Amino acid sequence: MALIVQKFGGTSVADVERIQAVALRVKGEVDAGNQVAVVVSAMAGVTNQLVDYVEQTGKLYDTQEYDVVVSSGEQVTSGLLALALQSIGVPARSWLGWQLPIKTSSAHAKARIEGIETEEILTSMKAGNVAVVPGFQGISQKNRVTTLGRGGSDTSAVALAAALGAERCDIYTDVNGVYTTDPRIVAKAKKLDKITYEEMLEMASVGAKVLQTRSVEVAMKHGVRVQVRSSFSDEPGTLVVNEDEIVEQELISGIAYSRDEAKITLVGVLDQPGIAAKIFGALADANINVDMIVQNVSADVNHAATDLTFTVTKADLERAVATVKAHAQDLGYKDLQSDPNVVKVSVIGVGMRSHAGIAQRMFQSLADKGINIQVISTSEIKVSVLIAEEYAELALRSLHTTYGLDGDE
Ligand code: ADP
Ligand code: ASP
Ligand code: MG
Repeated sequence: MALIVQKFGGTSVADVERIQAVALRVKGEVDAGNQVAVVVSAMAGVTNQLVDYVEQTGKLYDTQEYDVVVSSGEQVTSGLLALALQSIGVPARSWLGWQLPIKTSSAHAKARIEGIETEEILTSMKAGNVAVVPGFQGISQKNRVTTLGRGGSDTSAVALAAALGAERCDIYTDVNGVYTTDPRIVAKAKKLDKITYEEMLEMASVGAKVLQTRSVEVAMKHGVRVQVRSSFSDEPGTLVVNEDEIVEQELISGIAYSRDEAKITLVGVLDQPGIAAKIFGALADANINVDMIVQNVSADVNHAATDLTFTVTKADLERAVATVKAHAQDLGYKDLQSDPNVVKVSVIGVGMRSHAGIAQRMFQSLADKGINIQVISTSEIKVSVLIAEEYAELALRSLHTTYGLDGDE
């Protein structure tokens, strides 16, 4: 007998019929003799609707109340799944985040899980009940409801698996596993049987939303065996594993993209020590994360001025522009240009550590399609480029072919 955690995403619990299908899948694990804890997302589209209600109520909102509203979607699916299980003869009970509790930081709308009390659900599971737990939500030390950031149910599931010492954490979603790139954009994308924690972490952090980045961090830290698989088929999914479990490592394991980027260029910034510190200090004080940065060498002979380009999330663009403008006098730039129509495309692979020329192939492939690269950034196992948003799909497809990743359509 094993203890397992199953997580079902929004599409998998989109309506009552699908929740009933999920209940049957859970029953399958129970009938196989396993103890099961299930983590559920809100029904597809519900969290977006709730966020929209909050934004309609006021553009500048209090994130504590945002959390009260957006955490409610998962409450509904938890109760419904417990009922669906009971109605097919599987004893089940649900617990909300505050009831366990799932303790988090107080960073509302992006809280981090700090610990999960499992005593009560373990007792219940040992007595033969399935435990149902809503994803995405928790409670802060100040006794307020929190949420973990979009896609956060993945993290709830992995953290619960770690806290319960579960043998497996199966993440059920609407695709068959982790693919070489988003299968909804590139029809020739191939499913990976295995991917390393490190590569999955990079892929998630540069935009592959199949797993929330933080869930991979938690899995890696606690050695949780995560499998990503489909709610709609019985095919084996993708296992996230340590590097030594992969026998034949491909050079590039995946390509990801993020449309959640916006670019700001400051033209004619003073080329003096301390200027970058001032700009990025002001942005940090405003709680704005900066991703890619490029500063050009001064074009003029006196090295008096230079251009500085950086990216922020689309949601932060307006605030970032306002923040920089508020320091305009100090920074002495000539012009500020902003562009929300950009996309970041990244190639990821641990093979990069030992092979040269991977970035060059990326640049050539984009050049061959006439795609201009606006900003470049790299890490040990990743190269990212910023390009115009209209070329996103073309870039993904051509890079997929360039690195020999194409499978059957
Ligand atoms: P869930 O609601 O189950 O959490 P998500 O929508 O958050 O599902 O994540 C699944 C989606 O992730 C897929 O439908 C797919 O479009 C997208 N995706 C992006 N990159 C990848 C990738 N490399 N492999 C698989 N899916 C990906
Ligand atoms: N329902 C939340 C969201 O849509 C959390 C999740 O589904 O993972 O972001
Ligand atoms: Mg998700």
